[in-house]
Parts: sequence; structure tokens; C-alpha cells
Amino acid sequence: MEELLAALRPARARIDLDRLAANYAAVAAHARLPLMPVVKADAYGHGAVPVARALVRAGATMLAVAYPEEGAELRSAGVSVPVIVLAGFAEGQVGLLVRQRLTPIVSTPAQLAALLASAERPAAAHVKVDTGMSRLGFGRDAFVDAALRLSAHGIDVEGAMTHLSSADESPETTAIQLDRFDDALEAVRQRGLQPRLVHAASSAGLPAGRGPHTVARPGLLLYGLRTRPLGPDVDVRPVMTVSAEVSLVKEVPEGTAVSYGGRFVARRPSRIATVPLGYADGVPRTRAMREDGAFAIRGRRSPVAGTVCMDLTMLDVTDDGTVREGDEAVLLGDDPTAWDVAEWAGTNAWQVLTGIGPRVPRVYVEGGRMVEARSRYGGGA
Ligand SMILES: *Cc1c(COP(=O)(O)O)cnc(C)c1O
Repeated sequence: MEELLAALRPARARIDLDRLAANYAAVAAHARLPLMPVVKADAYGHGAVPVARALVRAGATMLAVAYPEEGAELRSAGVSVPVIVLAGFAEGQVGLLVRQRLTPIVSTPAQLAALLASAERPAAAHVKVDTGMSRLGFGRDAFVDAALRLSAHGIDVEGAMTHLSSADESPETTAIQLDRFDDALEAVRQRGLQPRLVHAASSAGLPAGRGPHTVARPGLLLYGLRTRPLGPDVDVRPVMTVSAEVSLVKEVPEGTAVSYGGRFVARRPSRIATVPLGYADGVPRTRAMREDGAFAIRGRRSPVAGTVCMDLTMLDVTDDGTVREGDEAVLLGDDPTAWDVAEWAGTNAWQVLTGIGPRVPRVYVEGGRMVEARSRYGGGA
């Protein structure tokens, strides 16, 4: 493994599987419900397969992905727990769902029709209620109708779910959504169906997992970031640290322009460090990143100097005389956090994490030692 790493460009996303397991335990204790950990989008950039395996070792009895292909990737890696497909499936993917034993969430009339028309059928499905997100899902009556038709067709309506639009911002909106969800659940029960997996809460909504809910669907919290401004006060720590080794430190005279367009001009004799991590790797290329953004070297922040490039970023390390070539410059981890970077980029922590590009090797650490390394250029090690 060391050989593989030595052969790669010195940029890493280090994934701490012990922290992932600790976060899982903390979130499960807080939720007081079984969890359906969300490992979509390559486990928010952390690597779906190693993360799914670690979560199952930590006690997860089911997982959620967004799309069928993501579920199939887990199955190819031998992950055998139930996998729920949150964001939908195309009509042509029913066969894939069945072959890979994936549990679809039925959220559109076309999906309902595809399942009813297909010769192959999944053993179970969940049905989605739109309670105010206005994205996917059925209104109350259409939800009841969809559930009844699936059930009559021999598909177990194992779950009923909805998605909260504003759990991190507005408890009032969440209360309205939960009331609508309760109403839909009541209506389907009156028609004789009893979905066993009833779920609404993602990370921000965990405290809202009340009453009839039997499972929660956290993502972000498991990766160690809390939702903002509202969300559960759970003690979690960031799982991923993205860093790279400083390739070059150069002394430049006052007046020197740095990077494309010369938008940083040294106001004094300066030291500029070049770091091999750019926007293709997930460093946001925004004005605020250029003006407020920083990387941390040995815990001390140095500001970004000039426009972030596709493959490289320059830092003004004039105020940190200790910085040397080969030092580890941290884009995100404990400090700065993905939320800090998100603020500089004018986005959220979800986008920053999922934006860490496939070009960055993922290195997995457990029990204080490296247990796996993955690069898209040369298999697992
Ligand atoms: C992504 C997603 C989640 C997880 O959301 P977090 O905010 O990361 O906890 C839960 N449910 C659905 C439907 C999702 O799409």
C-alpha cells in the first residue's frame, strides 16, 4: 500500500473509519431509531464501498443510495444488507432493481406504471408522500392509491416515507409536513396497509423523528458535520481530511502578480506556496475563496493567493515562516471544516464533500493504521 501511495501525486482524502463508526453510534443513540445510513454520491465523496462496509460493521442493517447504479456497486462489492433507492429509477431499470435486490422508493406515476407493467417485480417497495418539498412523491390520495395497487400486484409495501424541506431552518414548516405525513399514513392504514418502515428524518430532521416513525435516514451527520443553522446537537467529528503536500515555496518581491489574471498582487516581499490540489479536485474557484479562503499547515491557516487553478492552488505563507516544501496543507477536515470551505464557496457542506473529485486518492485509516487505499488510476490496494 505504501508503494501505491508513493506512486501517486501527493494529494489525499484521508477517511477515518473509526470516526465514522463513532459518529454512527452517536447518531443512533441520539435518534433512538434504527438508522438507514445514506451512502449516495459515493458516500458523500468518502467512497461508497469502504464506507458501506464500515457502517455494516458498526451495526447498520440497511443502507440508502440515490440511484440503482449506486446500489449495484454495493452489491458487486458483496454488501448484502437491504439497500433502498431514494431518488428514483428509470423505467428501464426495473430489471436491475430486481436482479440486485434493491428496494425502490416509488415516487412518480411513471415508476408506479413501470413496476405494475414489468414481468419482473421487486419483493418490496416504499412509497413516497410529497408533504411540501414539491420534488418527488404523491399527494395523500394518490399515495394511498399507489400503495394499494402495488400491494394488489404482490409487491410488499414495506415502507412509507417523505422528505423534509426545511428541517435545518424552520420547525414550523417541519411540523406542517409531519402532520401531512401522519394524515397520509392514517389514510393508508385505514385501507388495511401497515408499512413497517416509516421514515422522514434526514440529519437535520432527526429530532422530528417522532410518533409513528420507525427509521431515520441520516447522511451528513454520519460524515461528521452538523446541519446549520438548526439540527440535532450530536457529538460527531469530520471523517474526511483533504490535503496535499506543498510542492514549492518561492520568495517573490513586492508587486508580484500571482495566478491567472494576476488578481493577487504581493503588497510586500512574500512567500508563495504551491499546493497540488485544484478546482478539479474540489477546491472551490470562487472570489470568496480567493479573498477569504485558507488552507491549514500544522494547524495554522495561510490564505489562498490568487485564482484557484484546475490542478493547483497558491497560498500566501509570508506570515508563517515555518512552511516548507513537503508540508501537508489541509483544505478541509477538523480545521478548516467543510462548512468553512462551503462559506467561502457560497454553498453548503454537502456540495463541498461531494465535490471532492475522483482524481484525489482515498486513503482509509482504522485503528490508527492505513487499511486501504483507492485511486481511480490503480485499483484498491
Ligand atoms: C440525501 C438524502 C438524505 C440524507 O440527507 P442528509 O441531510 O445528508 O442527512 C435523506 N433522505 C433523502 C431522501 C435524501 O435524498
